[in-house]
Amino acid sequence: MEKAELLEKFSAYAPHVDTAMLAKAFDFSVKAHADQERASGEHYFVHCDAVASSLVDWKMDLPTICAGLLHDVLEDTPISAETLAAEFGDEVTKMVLGVTKLDHLQFSSHDDAQAENWRRMLLATAQDIRVIVIKLADRLHNMKTLNFLNKEKQKRIAHETLTLYAPLAHRLGMFQLKSQLEDLAFMYLFPAEYEDLNQKVNAQLATREVTLAKFKESVEQALANSNIPHRILARTKSLNSIYQKMLRQNKPFEEIQDALGVRVITDTVANCYALLGIVHTQFKPVAGSFTDYISIPKMNLYRSLHTTVMGPGGELVEIQIRTEEMHRTAEYGIAAHWRYKTGETARDAHLEEKLNWLRQWIEWLQDLKSPREFLDSLKTDLELNQVFVFTPAGEVKALPAGATALDFAFAVHTEIGMACVGAMVNNKMVKLDHQLKSGDICKILTKKGSAPKKDWLNFTRTARARSKIRHYLREKGIVA
Ligand code: MN
Repeated sequence: MEKAELLEKFSAYAPHVDTAMLAKAFDFSVKAHADQERASGEHYFVHCDAVASSLVDWKMDLPTICAGLLHDVLEDTPISAETLAAEFGDEVTKMVLGVTKLDHLQFSSHDDAQAENWRRMLLATAQDIRVIVIKLADRLHNMKTLNFLNKEKQKRIAHETLTLYAPLAHRLGMFQLKSQLEDLAFMYLFPAEYEDLNQKVNAQLATREVTLAKFKESVEQALANSNIPHRILARTKSLNSIYQKMLRQNKPFEEIQDALGVRVITDTVANCYALLGIVHTQFKPVAGSFTDYISIPKMNLYRSLHTTVMGPGGELVEIQIRTEEMHRTAEYGIAAHWRYKTGETARDAHLEEKLNWLRQWIEWLQDLKSPREFLDSLKTDLELNQVFVFTPAGEVKALPAGATALDFAFAVHTEIGMACVGAMVNNKMVKLDHQLKSGDICKILTKKGSAPKKDWLNFTRTARARSKIRHYLREKGIVA
């Protein structure tokens, strides 16, 4: 993107912000990378520019876009952090330092290096979440230009993208980005399957679009007399999510259902439920398909009502109902919260609170000493399948699938985890390694003076529980 275009796109959503620093960062980055090329043979700055473009698309604030333009300056040019700080201030420099790769560190294995990279990145993120947003923009462009690297590197980077970056984007609620990263990774990891599926989906596209348009129209009719403000969007699934479903259900593409979906977007929470009522009186809902992520939001801030209904032609369609604000959060995730409101740099007042889980989680991860354990815990906690478990008081805790009663105890409170001796799930006594399901009500039994056992590490999955247990065992000299 040309400089003028970048400034213009930024000013469109932040009309009252002075763009002088952005223009300066642009020129500075062009100059700093002047003699460098990417593997593609392109000028290196093309990469910095692409990262900044994504950040503008996500409507990030000015310091973030500056840091995006400058993100590889410290790593790949002789420019020092001091120079950067003198030119652009501490805020931008700290973000660049956070993003800077750590290739020069020596590690015993690739896994160690990868784990250390993640640890550093998450540490930086704990101080400023915008760092991870830049890192994700960086990864997106690297994935788009992966064809210029050798096969082995392609697979390694695509694998890392699929197991870590895409789930992280999901965790941050950036669904568009998540699908983009997944589909790119899918293409490199399973080229034959990708090609095959891509063809089939494209071949079906015409019929699917007709069906979807018809269904959209019938929803439109059903809602027309409701006097509730709304707009309806048609939705298609990403190739990777269709492929994952084929693997999970062990079915060919032709038998995969609910690849069709519509979204209804309205103004208030009350109207979401009102619209759901109308939808359910007009279309037969599929039993057990209704999920209320408004009263029980996901950990990544996602909120919406989900229901699957039978369309007029007997086809299954998933309907998601949400407010405009929920929709913004769903599309852009945490990035949505940095959006400028009529030129002010106002951040979402509740953002800090909402992101506390992320900071805490990062802290727990810091405690895990072995790179392997760190990466395993990271992958587990990023796991997309969550279970929602209730305390006896009705408070809900989100845990990764496969989490045990002991994980739950630590999720409730560290002290409760530490002194845990047993658990009751739905009024029945269970062992501490009992795996929880969504909707379970779990009551933890504690005993004063009781302490963690070494074998607890064998059946805890969350970083929080593992970090606390390990910390205790290490202090007592039980484990190294
Ligand atoms: Mn980069």
